[in-house]
Amino acid sequence: MSTTTKRDTQLAAIAKTILNIPTLKRRWADHLDFHDVAVWQVEQALREAYSAGYEAAVTELDPERVAPEDGCPRCGETNTDHLVWETDTTVHCTNCGTRYRPGKRQ
Ligand SMILES: [Zn+2]
Repeated sequence: MSTTTKRDTQLAAIAKTILNIPTLKRRWADHLDFHDVAVWQVEQALREAYSAGYEAAVTELDPERVAPEDGCPRCGETNTDHLVWETDTTVHCTNCGTRYRPGKRQ
């Protein structure tokens, strides 16, 4: 999947799940092209878009690192050489010994 296609797919998913907007394609009808959304929905959508972009950039620049939210919650380690999957859901940080679930900050 090209970078642009992946980005557009992620943005469409964010719009659909957070903003309740079924498509970002212009449909040439006001009732389909304009939506009422709460500011907190806009904030959450922007945060998710920012995170997706950050993660894509980090992965592209340094495939040896994971996105910050998937790094060790205790010491902040993001280098995959120090983060070992122990089970399907648990990662062991060999830097500080913490075991955690990626993407779920405690
Ligand atoms: Zn750690």
